[in-house]
Amino acid sequence: MGIKTGIIGSGIGGIATAIRLALMGHSVTVFEKNSYPGGKLAEYKSKGYRFDMGPSLFTMPHFVTELFILAGKNPANYLEYDKLEILCKYHYEDGSIINAYQDIDLFAEEIELKTNDSRESILKHLDKAEKIYNLTSNIFILRALHKTSNLYNRDYLKAFLKFGSIDALTSMHNKNKKAFRDPRTQQLFDRYATYVGSNPYSVPATLNMISHLEHNEGAYFPKNGMYSIITGLHQLAGELNVKFNFNSNVDAIVLKGKKAQGLKSGGKTFPFDFIVSDIDVNTIYGNLLPGKELKPKTKNLSSSALVFYWGINKAFPELSLHNILFSNNYKSEFDAIFNKQNVFSDPTVYIFISSKLVKGDAPAGYENWFTMINVPPDTGQDWNALVKASRENIIGKINRMLKTDIENHITTEKVLHPPEIYNKTGSYKGSLYGINSNSRFAAFNRHPNHRSRYSNLYFVGGSVHPGGGIPMCLSSARIVAHEIKHRK
Ligand SMILES: Cc1cc2nc3c(=O)[nH]c(=O)nc-3n(C[C@H](O)[C@H](O)[C@H](O)COP(=O)(O)OP(=O)(O)OC[C@H]3O[C@@H](n4cnc5c(N)ncnc54)[C@H](O)[C@@H]3O)c2cc1C
Repeated sequence: MGIKTGIIGSGIGGIATAIRLALMGHSVTVFEKNSYPGGKLAEYKSKGYRFDMGPSLFTMPHFVTELFILAGKNPANYLEYDKLEILCKYHYEDGSIINAYQDIDLFAEEIELKTNDSRESILKHLDKAEKIYNLTSNIFILRALHKTSNLYNRDYLKAFLKFGSIDALTSMHNKNKKAFRDPRTQQLFDRYATYVGSNPYSVPATLNMISHLEHNEGAYFPKNGMYSIITGLHQLAGELNVKFNFNSNVDAIVLKGKKAQGLKSGGKTFPFDFIVSDIDVNTIYGNLLPGKELKPKTKNLSSSALVFYWGINKAFPELSLHNILFSNNYKSEFDAIFNKQNVFSDPTVYIFISSKLVKGDAPAGYENWFTMINVPPDTGQDWNALVKASRENIIGKINRMLKTDIENHITTEKVLHPPEIYNKTGSYKGSLYGINSNSRFAAFNRHPNHRSRYSNLYFVGGSVHPGGGIPMCLSSARIVAHEIKHRK
């Protein structure tokens, strides 16, 4: 009969694992509680507008394309994407606007032209970010971190010997403050902490490597929007005979001693040789696995998001695909999110407009605005009140900074907030990336992809090693497939 594997959840990590295991000859069944694949990477359509509901930034596309190549297929037949010319347009309350051009020389010139920093300071910073990435990626991103055999190798020794140069002992903000004179440049680079739902004033400066991935490696966008990543992978999985059971909530993982033997769903038990969970690991304990497990403290969780999906009946040529309207007080914004579990009154507003590149995503002359702010996870706050107050603050900020009257142009609206993120995807308290990276030891505290206490059960996705975001989830799928293949 061959090896039978059950996967819980069809987030990008779950689908990628399904593809890899199917290619290893497993007979794979994915159980998904929703009626559609993708988890956080979802889409929504209303009145002629299409919205990507979750991720909007697409880096390291090779993690996706390698799945098609492994299957002997041409990636372009499933997913097409382009490199961006402008990574992001940054707007500041003082009226200045910085275009983060993909071309590093153009970007460095832009910084020299618009701020008090030199082009050399940018080139030096990005060069350092690349060096940190090259020193650490084999340890923290590409392999299982929690296996002792992986701790005794050349990469680990190299990083250990060069520990001082990976900037683990200072915060991202402190490092950026030393690297740049202008607070606007500091703020631009501090923002990379939010890519892992963390606080730039606490996160180790090692995480400056994220700017390398965007500026040096490049940012991309799929020709048909972010959700086409999922439709492409779902199609490939289908061609490899992966079976998807939608509307199928898994209620329990069946254990016999240490061995995971099957899944319970819809009153039935399904036996499997291996089980892979793509659900937020903090949700799985207590809900699907028997026994008590310590849940992470709120202060250790990554941030969540409050998103307004607005159909806008006007075009804004001054905006790009990715746009940031920065808070005037970044420190207080992160203090509110991580220390007070509150939403700041002057939040940094991110506006993502896929219709800038995907013309069918909005009616002609109109735009689809994904308007997001970072917020704390759900710890019982009054979200109705917070959504109402934040909506006013966001609209006030947009009107002030873009000199418009945006409320008069909103024709459709949908809201996503932390409790809703939990309901839709099972993400613990709505946090986007599991635990945050605010401590120097966070990478080690992240849940491993496998624990010896559960044989045959593996963990994939944004809440486990190596972390959240599309590339990390895809890396976790690669690690899980490798661990299953080489298991003793
Ligand atoms: C608003 C927002 C913006 C983001 N922006 C970015 C970005 O720009 N770039 C980026 O790289 N990342 C971004 N992310 C993060 C990224 O979306 C996630 O890290 C990634 O998609 C998580 O994938 P996953 O494999 O962990 O599975 P998830 O997407 O978490 O999916 C888990 C799946 O499991 C299913 N499930 C849960 N419980 C059960 C059960 N009991 N039985 C059956 N099925 C179950 C859920 O329905 C869901 O489909 C963003 C996320 C959000 C929400």
